[in-house]
Amino acid sequence: MSDLLIMKFGGTSVGSAERMRASARLAAEAAGSRPVAIVVSAMSGITDLLLGTMRHAEAGDRAGMEANLANLRRRHQEACRELLPAARIEPVLAEIETLAAEFERLANGMALLNERPPRSVDEAVAAGERLSALLVAEYLSAQGTPAEAVNAWDVVVTDAVFGNASPLMEATRAKALQRIQPLLDRGVLPVITGFNGATADGRPTTLGRGGSDFSASIVAAALDAAELWIWTDVDGIMSADPRLVPDGVVLAEVTYAEAAELAYHGAKVLHPKTLAPLADRRIPVWSKNSFAPEKPGTKIVASLREATGARAVASMTNVALVTIEPASIELNGVQVMARALDAIARANVEILLLSSSSFRGNFCFLVRAAELEPTLQSLEQALALELAHGYLNPIKVDRNVGMLAAVGEGMQGKPGLASRIFTAISRERVNVIAIAQGSNELTIAVVVNRDGLEKAVQAVHAECGMGASRRKDSQT
Ligand code: ADP
Ligand code: ASP
Ligand code: MG
Repeated sequence: MSDLLIMKFGGTSVGSAERMRASARLAAEAAGSRPVAIVVSAMSGITDLLLGTMRHAEAGDRAGMEANLANLRRRHQEACRELLPAARIEPVLAEIETLAAEFERLANGMALLNERPPRSVDEAVAAGERLSALLVAEYLSAQGTPAEAVNAWDVVVTDAVFGNASPLMEATRAKALQRIQPLLDRGVLPVITGFNGATADGRPTTLGRGGSDFSASIVAAALDAAELWIWTDVDGIMSADPRLVPDGVVLAEVTYAEAAELAYHGAKVLHPKTLAPLADRRIPVWSKNSFAPEKPGTKIVASLREATGARAVASMTNVALVTIEPASIELNGVQVMARALDAIARANVEILLLSSSSFRGNFCFLVRAAELEPTLQSLEQALALELAHGYLNPIKVDRNVGMLAAVGEGMQGKPGLASRIFTAISRERVNVIAIAQGSNELTIAVVVNRDGLEKAVQAVHAECGMGASRRKDSQT
């Protein structure tokens, strides 16, 4: 293992010229004493803007497209003018225009076809990270830290699942060594685009929304880095989303498993797949605030010295609960479930929670709302006969739900914890619709009515003593 440090800067950390300056300073400082490569997100709001532009294109809304394109150009041109020395402004404005025009050409193609093919979306949306990487690399170089923007198309090799690709690590390792190592050897700081990758035959892909964290961990694992620092806009991984729970605390340490569970259950501070490439290699990860870099942040570690019950709560909206129920007891419930799960897997949909416990063989599962349509299509196809003949009741969908999950290494073998969580939720008069606990006892996940989610999160946080007022004797 080298001394290499990978830093990842999220959208708010590169959201303006001022934020780019602050982030570049953090990278340059570290690069003074060790090799550093950085991974950047698009400027905050830009990925949404690009995706919105493509939706306008598909709908034939020219005015909407034009307005977004003007906004895209303006944000980057302004940052360029504010950041760079006079001599570099015109050449970099020209490069910004090349990238913006490339995006516009792809969006125009979608407008012409009234279609947004996932493959073209992935190619087009990469413009956001390519633009931010260009600006950050130019600024670093102008400030005396030689840097080069690197398109992750040349580094991260993925499968061909457009919009939610997974890395092929061996191929990525080879490409990373070929593209990044020579820069490091020459003392040049690579500024790699987050979120993006490409298939082995060069078709651009993306790693899913929020995927720049994952990009950084892929790069860290591929280059056998010594550490990964993820810079964001909060002080680290907290006991709850500070937007929902004001008295949440920053956790000094969380385990890979806890962080992964929290991310998986909706804690946006990390992309759910971030830790997968790192845990085996035991590469330490820090989550830190680029707005307050002096604060210690959270260290993600292999194990805790002392595990103290439920330590954090995550939550998720924009989910839907799907229920499948045999109408006749002659139908083999296990077979129905097997076929349903197979259909969902073929649609490439992720099941967030699964619960089953009924004589009738009824079961329900939670998916992201955005994945509901392909889920239902695939299920209806796979179970067409049973549905048509009434052996299965019509598939039920509840969109008015949310999920929360209490997470902690110390939850194993804590009798009474689940009942306290449910009691706390019901005290708020929020109805528990479904529950699931993994057999590792690291997480208890609960589906509740959407309207009650926030109250339920706050109640669980308070009941488990996760907050600022956490007392030793209240640890569960
Ligand atoms: P970035 O653009 O840097 O990747 P994100 O917006 O993706 O940042 O993630 C940071 C946000 O995650 C925070 O602003 C916070 O609102 C949210 N968040 C949700 N759950 C947590 C948690 N448990 N700890 C910290 N932040 C959380
Ligand atoms: N820019 C991408 C997004 O907004 C990736 C990221 O920021 O992590 O989803
Ligand atoms: Mg993020």
